[in-house]
Amino acid sequence: MFLKRLTIKGFKSFADSATLDLEPGVTAVVGPNGSGKSNVVDAVAWVLGAQAPSAVRSQRMDDVIFAGTTERSALGRAEVSLTIDNSDSSLALDFPEITITRTLFRSGESDYSLNGSPCRLLDIQELLSDVGVGRQQHVIISQGQIDAVLNAREEDRRSIIEDAAGILKFRKRKEKPLERQADAARKHGNFLEELKSLRLFRINKEFKELKSLASSESDRRSDLAKQETLTVNELKRFESEISTAESELASRGEDDL
Ligand code: ATP
Repeated sequence: MFLKRLTIKGFKSFADSATLDLEPGVTAVVGPNGSGKSNVVDAVAWVLGAQAPSAVRSQRMDDVIFAGTTERSALGRAEVSLTIDNSDSSLALDFPEITITRTLFRSGESDYSLNGSPCRLLDIQELLSDVGVGRQQHVIISQGQIDAVLNAREEDRRSIIEDAAGILKFRKRKEKPLERQADAARKHGNFLEELKSLRLFRINKEFKELKSLASSESDRRSDLAKQETLTVNELKRFESEISTAESELASRGEDDL
């Protein structure tokens, strides 16, 4: 994505309207210490929606409004416009150039606009987020940070490069399905636990039923055994009666009867 133009008016040291036309390639802003070079970078961060005053090296947000000098009185508003080249339609708005403008008044009132039409900060954030620009996505490496990058430990350097390469955007997109998957896995685990206890409950119930069936069958078996003994004894009694009767008949000579 290419920045084409930056217009700064009433922002920090830029009392008069100043326009920087950014040519293709690398743009360098050169000047003596304290001449306002970093204010140009602050203007870019600010127009892209920076919310913390510290993000633009300030204590309070209205510190960004030109505060005046011995020769010039303070101004009541700061305004920065950034024009982005959209000839490749990378931004989802049907314009070859898109100008984002942020204005802040001393009263605290603040406005945003896209190609001159008032809009919300959220509209700008949404428009830019698809091309990796916006909150926590684009990276501005400020003074001193180059040293920090060069002297960083390997793992820290890796995370700086990942952020600069825009991987954060994809990591954030990935977090959502991962969260859903983790949730599903958690539910699955809970269901498995529930299934296990239900199975245990059912097995325990069946075991108790079978145990009571076994005990009543065993009672029935011993009843039947008792009954069998009685019947066998009765049978023996009948047999002895028969043989007594037969011997009596034989003694009477009435075997044929
Ligand atoms: P260096 O690279 O040496 O740190 P620089 O060129 O990056 O300096 P900046 O830090 O961008 O300079 O600008 C600092 C200048 O901006 C200071 O002179 C400071 O007084 C001025 N300045 C910052 N905020 C305001 C403001 N609200 N109103 C007027 N001047 C401001």
